[in-house]
Amino acid sequence: MGYNQMGYNEEDYLMISGIQHFVFCRRQWALIHLEGHWTENVLTAEGRLLHDRVHDADVRDMRGGILTVRGLQVKNVALGITGTCDAVEFVPDEGGAVLFGRKGNWRPRPVEYKHGEPKISDCDRLQAAAQAVCLEEMFCCDVPEAFLYYYGTRHREKISVTDELRNRLVEITEEMHQLYRSGHTPSVKPSASCKNCSLKDSCLPKMLKKYRQQTVSEYIASHINDSGE
Ligand code: SF4
Repeated sequence: MGYNQMGYNEEDYLMISGIQHFVFCRRQWALIHLEGHWTENVLTAEGRLLHDRVHDADVRDMRGGILTVRGLQVKNVALGITGTCDAVEFVPDEGGAVLFGRKGNWRPRPVEYKHGEPKISDCDRLQAAAQAVCLEEMFCCDVPEAFLYYYGTRHREKISVTDELRNRLVEITEEMHQLYRSGHTPSVKPSASCKNCSLKDSCLPKMLKKYRQQTVSEYIASHINDSGE
């Protein structure tokens, strides 16, 4: 298991933001990223408004010697992932990268803003680590840390981008690419998470057992056809 040495083609890149969906529920990720379903609930609306606000802020600023760039698009060819960082802070560091028009060297570190409070699952840490490895590839320097800011606690959590987190990221992204290539929306066992899921109405969890081999789109299409419309 490791990075894809050949790299992925741009058309095969998957969204970094999908990692949290994938970790939450493989089926939810497939419904959104394979079948194009999206339904907003209170939690997703809060998250979207928050990210809109973050991305609307000044594109860059310099405070306390740290340069902050917002809405930076990033990618990692080896993992085949892409996305937009809420903020990237560039800290003066001899081992960092050279930035056009700036003196010295700068080490980037991503900052991801989240509504709510830190989660038990590692989905947010994986997203932050994914942004870090994108920055490493783009700026050719190590990015050993990232930050998660939670509006619910108004606290900033430092994430160490450890080998363990990197290996998990490689496993998750490989699994995402395999599932994407298969084009198959997996069936999963309905769980307690379903009640907070924005897709619970279109997922049809109660139908999962009966229509295990069909995508939701196929299920809906077959019933429209059955009704003779
Ligand atoms: S309703 Fe449950 S099974 Fe369906 S996508 Fe959401 S979390 Fe997954």
